[in-house]
Amino acid sequence: MFQKILIANRGEIACRVAATARRMGVKTVAVYSDADAHARHVAACDEALHIGGSAPGESYLRAQRIIEAAQATGAQAIHPGYGFLSENAGFAQACADAGLVFIGPPPSAIRDMGFKAGSKQRMEKAGVPLVPGYHGADQDPALLRAEADRIGYPVLIKASAGGGGKGMRTVDRAQDFAAALDACRREARNSFGDDAVLIEKYLQRPRHIEIQVFGDSHGNCVHLFERDCSVQRRYQKLLEEAPAPGMAPELRARMGQAAVAAARAVNYVGAGTVEFIAEQRADGTLDFFFMEMNTRLQVEHPVTEAITGQDLVEWQLRVACGEPLPLTQEQLRINGHAIEARICAENPEKDFLPATGTLEVCGLPEGTAFEHGAVRVDSGVRQGDAISPFYDPLLAKLIVHGATRAQALARLDEALARTHIVGLDSNVQFLRRLARSDSFASARLDTTLIAREQAALFQREDLGLPLAAAAAVAQTLLRERASEGADPFSRRDGFCSHGLLRRRFEFAFGDARATAWLTYGRDANWHLTVGEGAAQQAGPLVFGPAAQGIDLQFAGLRTHAAVYTQGEVEHVFTPLGATRIVAIDLLAHAGEVEAPAGRLTAPMPGKLLSFAVRAGDKVRQGQPLAVLEAMKMEHLIVAPLDGVVQELLYAPGDQVSEGAELLRLSAEPRITQRIMDK
Ligand code: ADP
Repeated sequence: MFQKILIANRGEIACRVAATARRMGVKTVAVYSDADAHARHVAACDEALHIGGSAPGESYLRAQRIIEAAQATGAQAIHPGYGFLSENAGFAQACADAGLVFIGPPPSAIRDMGFKAGSKQRMEKAGVPLVPGYHGADQDPALLRAEADRIGYPVLIKASAGGGGKGMRTVDRAQDFAAALDACRREARNSFGDDAVLIEKYLQRPRHIEIQVFGDSHGNCVHLFERDCSVQRRYQKLLEEAPAPGMAPELRARMGQAAVAAARAVNYVGAGTVEFIAEQRADGTLDFFFMEMNTRLQVEHPVTEAITGQDLVEWQLRVACGEPLPLTQEQLRINGHAIEARICAENPEKDFLPATGTLEVCGLPEGTAFEHGAVRVDSGVRQGDAISPFYDPLLAKLIVHGATRAQALARLDEALARTHIVGLDSNVQFLRRLARSDSFASARLDTTLIAREQAALFQREDLGLPLAAAAAVAQTLLRERASEGADPFSRRDGFCSHGLLRRRFEFAFGDARATAWLTYGRDANWHLTVGEGAAQQAGPLVFGPAAQGIDLQFAGLRTHAAVYTQGEVEHVFTPLGATRIVAIDLLAHAGEVEAPAGRLTAPMPGKLLSFAVRAGDKVRQGQPLAVLEAMKMEHLIVAPLDGVVQELLYAPGDQVSEGAELLRLSAEPRITQRIMDK
């Protein structure tokens, strides 16, 4: 076995590889960019070397620099992870030329499978079924158009060099073909430096089913069954599972054999994945077609590890050392069911646009980087990390395992409920809704699942105002109690040995304002009234501190809430759902003349698009003031408190730097409000 390897990657996959290496007694070297100087993967390795600037082209894609780093540290092999240089045949060759082992397939296999069109030609020869389409070398637009007409619309134009869901266009009608071809070629040229395309019949409701394969240098090749990765957004996977629901043993064997044939056709060595697209026939059986082969470890490999009990990184290291595969096809078995959820810094409500920011809270369920338990967490981040725009928005992966799919699903829901991310947008709550959706729960899987279930997935508030307000009130009272001690005379929580006290709370929830009244009664119990009119909820509020949160009972519900306070915003996480609510501190704001929050600054560099107010306007807390465009996203700047706009300091269209003061707001002078009245 190697004594030392270099991991030419970052994030969760670098941590993942390091965990297995450590378990096997192999020393690890990390490489890192400027942005990753304090990253988790650096801490996960035994040594670390800085290799350049934050942009991938200045660091993780610098083949020569990485090879020098391996030589300088005495590493014998390089694990490329996924993405970056993992499917770069030139890099694999350069490693070999430098006397280093590339932990992956031979350069020739990467080259053979590197282009979708070329790999299809090879697969055709090997007798692997293909989607009806055109993958020839002739790229004459008239010919491509004629081929599309022959295949029949809708068709999908794909960049032959494409990957990661980029460079694809669907075309529904012949008259739209030329424009779509132009757009696809432009994107392909910009993203991959190669504008060759292929055309496929566009399948309407296909499933994405892929087979994990493994070859060694002794001529052995096995498959480790399938993964269903049909649940996608923007042609990218979000939930993956193994085995594929409804897969008949006979079909599994046929797909497995086709995948092994594909791998053998290119003399494959190491871990690879053969991706198929499958279409349901009227009689319920599946037709499957080769899509492409990924010549590396996949993001979703842990579900295969969970059902086979194998460590695929260990297999990679053994095979790269020249050892034979640890198991034969006959020895491999499926045990139970596993599902993976990709936790990403992104905003599902804004078409899954990647988000940046600081991970103020990063609470992930128990589980180590490598563990064959019921819940496994592969994470590449730590609380306090800044998520930069330079890399993939994948923060962590939750992998659950159960005896049955239903059990795995229940564990996934629980694990997602215990995943608390504060400080930037994430898809955690979206993933929970997705996993609970009828289609996913009943395993009606295909690539249109998210579109079909959209009403249940987007613009949803899982936790209503009553419980959110109750959690915020309980959090406030517990915080006050903690800071004021047990002295009953200085307590603000309304406790009084006689009579009834009322305390008013003001909230901003979603777009609305809400008031809650808390009373402490003769029965020595709290009573809470939230909202007005028909939506009003009133009743006893029972709460107390619990492990990592608050036990809470209100409005007929009993739950456990974890509440994180960020200024006036309370982030509430419960098993029933999560939300945020702004608790407006009446005492703090009463009579303020120059609030510290009166300076409104740009949260990041960008372009000021518009002001929603003018100097002299009176504004209410939460009211939109300005719109800033940064990182391809619009950011709404809202009033942190009630006040009066004093001055606008920029004009629409201006470029502003981070921290620039955009406008001045003075708090509305008010008569000091009494927060308790008998
Ligand atoms: P990439 O290399 O960019 O990941 P793939 O060829 O693997 O691209 O395709 C990505 C996804 O696009 C698939 O998982 C599937 O959801 C969808 N897709 C690909 N080919 C087709 C097709 N012919 N018809 C319908 N959907 C397709």
